[in-house]
Amino acid sequence: MEGMAIRLQGLRKTYGRTEAVAGVDLEIADGEFFSMLGPSGSGKTTVLRMIAGFEAPSAGSVELAGREVTRLAPFERDVHTVFQDYALFPHMTIEQNVAYGLKVRKVARAERLVRARAALAQVRLEGLGRRRPAELSGGQRQRVALARALVGRPRVLLLDEPLGALDLKLREQMQVELKAIQRQVGITFVFVTHDQEEALTMSDRIAVFHQGRIEQVGTPAEIYERPATPFVAGFVGTSNLLSGDTARKVVGAPGTYSIRPEKIRILKDPTRLAGSESGPDHSTATGTVAEVVYLGDATRFLVDLDAGGRLTAVQQNLETSSADLASFRGARIGLRWHRRHAVRVPDAP
Ligand code: ADP
Ligand code: MG
Repeated sequence: MEGMAIRLQGLRKTYGRTEAVAGVDLEIADGEFFSMLGPSGSGKTTVLRMIAGFEAPSAGSVELAGREVTRLAPFERDVHTVFQDYALFPHMTIEQNVAYGLKVRKVARAERLVRARAALAQVRLEGLGRRRPAELSGGQRQRVALARALVGRPRVLLLDEPLGALDLKLREQMQVELKAIQRQVGITFVFVTHDQEEALTMSDRIAVFHQGRIEQVGTPAEIYERPATPFVAGFVGTSNLLSGDTARKVVGAPGTYSIRPEKIRILKDPTRLAGSESGPDHSTATGTVAEVVYLGDATRFLVDLDAGGRLTAVQQNLETSSADLASFRGARIGLRWHRRHAVRVPDAP
């Protein structure tokens, strides 16, 4: 298929009795920012290592740009991997670190320098080429690792939790920068993370991993708004599921339903549920507030439903103050949401 950067077919990897990757089929297009999202131990790194060639699959195949590479060594594949620990050479300057791969490939000295400087400019580190890794901050070292990857102009860049060692503020800043750099260079990025927010904000598409399998592949909006399995509904965003008897009473039909917390409106006076805003397009429920969590810009309410089960609702703090919020604890309230926001979740595959 044209424009295909990566195709995985029936990919498996077992270590003794551990099935690290239990059958993965996936196609990633040229130029995509693609994330592999899942909890620790779900097989993301193992898949990445099989794409890079560091690990041989127990079964299945890896294709890069239409060429089968399953049995090829890492250096025979047009990919580069960026690891979380940067793996910079401490005794070399930043420029030498970035140019190192070109030296190994026997690129002439003058060209090495030009390309290393261009790569450092791409990650906004121009002027720091003469320093050594110890003289840079964590975020700057991460950018050097990225420059070192970009300098070889690989077709695909594999990134394994590259921001995991950074503190929250820096991580958020690097998320924006990384995405901008990817757009600018147009290289396919395969980005591994266990952080759902990171995956949602950065990716063109996401694959959600669970126990060595992919449970869903889709755009961030598809994954968030139309979770394909109960696991995806719970792992991405706050788990808010109605099922069994509760679903029958509240949604009016059997099955499992996911409702995102920000779609649920809280009514301090439950008798208002019968009011004009509650047409046939809306579902309603009554319950008791079990917990109120002040989040600064918003508040999270955990509500025990009279129909059974518990829902989380999040409201922006437009007019409420933290003093008001205390009065909600233990209060009887009403909940209302548009019917289209109760999304039917198929059972696990
Ligand atoms: P993730 O990157 O999603 O955290 P991994 O791919 O690292 O997951 O691991 C998936 C599973 O395979 C885990 O249960 C892990 O313990 C196991 N595993 C990974 N690498 C090895 C190895 N070299 N030897 C034995 N088990 C491994
Ligand atoms: Mg991992």
